[in-house]
Amino acid sequence: MTTHGRDTLEIRPLEPLAVEFTSSWHYEAGVLIDEVNTPQGLAHWVGAYRSRLGMDAGTPVEVGAADVTTALAVRGALRDLLDALVDAAQPPDASLALVAERAQRVQEARVTWPPAGPRLEWPDGVRTMDIVAAQVCASAIRLLTSPRRDLLRRCPAPSCVLFFTALRTGQQWCSPACGNRARVARHSAKSR
Ligand SMILES: [Zn+2]
Repeated sequence: MTTHGRDTLEIRPLEPLAVEFTSSWHYEAGVLIDEVNTPQGLAHWVGAYRSRLGMDAGTPVEVGAADVTTALAVRGALRDLLDALVDAAQPPDASLALVAERAQRVQEARVTWPPAGPRLEWPDGVRTMDIVAAQVCASAIRLLTSPRRDLLRRCPAPSCVLFFTALRTGQQWCSPACGNRARVARHSAKSR
């Protein structure tokens, strides 16, 4: 999971979980790196976001090939919704239905308050990926139906596939690195 000696997962604590999951792939040196398209990659992602998913340190992360298929379907549907939002368009009905149905499953979790502090309890036998899908889809619905949606952007830098929230006025890029790459690309286009 590391390239250039660093972890390829760049956690952005201020982004909604839905934006983070939709951004679970990125280009690195022109190569698309998908962080969740293998069981190992998906497990690593879930482990890294465990606390934001409301999962205890002790909750086992169990994912297999079928969960990867689910993860990619959920991410594709989320991406359709975020694309539609930033393009002021209508998303495919199937994508909206998938996200809505997955989000409903957060209702299966109950909050309890043992001495160690509040925690979410899921029914026995709920799969790790069902928890992940429920949480990221619920996050998407909160984002899409809140004023925060007006701050959602798709990074316009070359070879960037990430969404981000423009938390600073006039923020154009998902990261300073993308801003630099876009400036370099503009410069070399001009001098060609
Ligand atoms: Zn970017």
